[in-house]
Amino acid sequence: MGKIYTKTALITGISGQDGAYLSKLLLSKSYKIIGVTRSHHEDNLSKLKRLGVDSDIIMEECDLLDISSIINMINKYKPDEIYNLAAQSSVGLSFTQPIGTINFNIVSVLNLLEAIRIIKPDVRFYQASSSEMYGKVTNLPVTVNTPMHPLSPYAISKASAHWIVVNYRESYGVYACNGVLFNHESFLRSNGFFVKKVLQETVRNKNNANWVLKVGSIDIKRDFGYSPSYVEAMWLMLQAEKADDFIICSGKSITLRSIIEYVFKKLDVSINKLVIDNDFMRPTDIEDIYGDNTPAKTKLGWQYDLDFYQVLDLLIKEELDFLDRKEVVNA
Ligand code: NAP
Repeated sequence: MGKIYTKTALITGISGQDGAYLSKLLLSKSYKIIGVTRSHHEDNLSKLKRLGVDSDIIMEECDLLDISSIINMINKYKPDEIYNLAAQSSVGLSFTQPIGTINFNIVSVLNLLEAIRIIKPDVRFYQASSSEMYGKVTNLPVTVNTPMHPLSPYAISKASAHWIVVNYRESYGVYACNGVLFNHESFLRSNGFFVKKVLQETVRNKNNANWVLKVGSIDIKRDFGYSPSYVEAMWLMLQAEKADDFIICSGKSITLRSIIEYVFKKLDVSINKLVIDNDFMRPTDIEDIYGDNTPAKTKLGWQYDLDFYQVLDLLIKEELDFLDRKEVVNA
C-alpha cells in the first residue's frame, strides 16, 4: 500500500542546516517533501544523510531565478506549503559578492511569490527572514516593528525580500509569513560560520601546538539559538489561522568572546591560542542585538527556553563524537 501523506511541502535550500532539520520535523508529521536544490549531487545530501532522512525526500533541481522552472515545479507537485530557505546566507561573503547576494536573495523570493499568485494562490509560504535586517538598532529588544537599518548587502537583500512578502500578503492576500530568525546553530551549520568554526577548529586542533584560532571582532553581542527548535517555529507559523511575521530568538545576547572562552575552558585549551586578526573584521557590524520572542510563544505556542551554553554543551559533544568516529574509521 502507498504511503499516506498529510500534506505536501516544498523546501528550497534543503541541503542547508535548516533544510535538514525542517525535513526531519515534517517527515515526523507525515508530510511528502520535495527538496529543491540548484544542482543535485551527493554532496548536497550530506546533512540530510546525517539525519537519516535523505531517502525519504524527492529531490528536484530548480533555478529559482527562472520563474518558468518554479511554475513547472508547483504545477507538478501542487504543494500545500512552501518553505523558502535558499539564500546566499553568509553576511561575510555578501561583502565580497554584493550583487550576486542581493540579486539572488531578492529575485528568488519575488519569483516564488509571483508564481504562487498566478498559479496556486492557496499555497502557504514561509520566508527565511533575518534579524540582520535590523542592523543598527537603538531600542532593544527587537520586535517586528523595530525600524530597519541594514548594515550589509546580505541584510539589505533580506530586508527587501521581507517587504516583498508583506506586500504579497497585504496586496494579493497570499498566505505569506516572514520568520525573522536570529542566529541559530547546530552540528549541521555550514563551515565558516562563527560558532561552527570555533567548535570545529578547537575540537580538531586542541592538542596541536602550532594551531591558533583566528577571529575578528569578538566583543559584539548576538542572540544565539538552536536550529532544531527554531524550525518548529517555521512549521507553527504556517499552521496559524492568519499569516503574520514573527521574531524567533532566545531573547538574550552574549558576546562572541564568551563563546570562545566557554569552549576553550570545556576543552581545556589555553586562551593564549586566541588571535584577533584584522582580516576577519567586517566593514560594518552590529554591536548588540537580541529579540523579543513573546509573540511567537503566546500566539504560536512555540516553546524555547534553552540557554546558549546548554546548546554549546550539546554541540561540543556532537563534534567530539564525530571526530572519534572519523578516527575509528581511518584507523
Ligand atoms: P545554509 O546552510 O547556508 O543553506 C542555504 C541553502 O541555500 C544552501 O544549502 C544552498 O542550497 C542554497 N543557496 C545558497 N546560495 C544559493 C544561490 N546563490 N542560489 C541558489 N541557492 C542557494 O543556510 P541555513 O543556515 O540553513 O539558513 C536557512 C535560511 O535562513 C537562509 O535563507 C538564511 O539566510 C536564513 N537565516 C539563517 C540564520 C541562521 O542563523 N542560520 C538566521 C537568519 C536567517 P543548494 O546549493 O543546494 O541550492
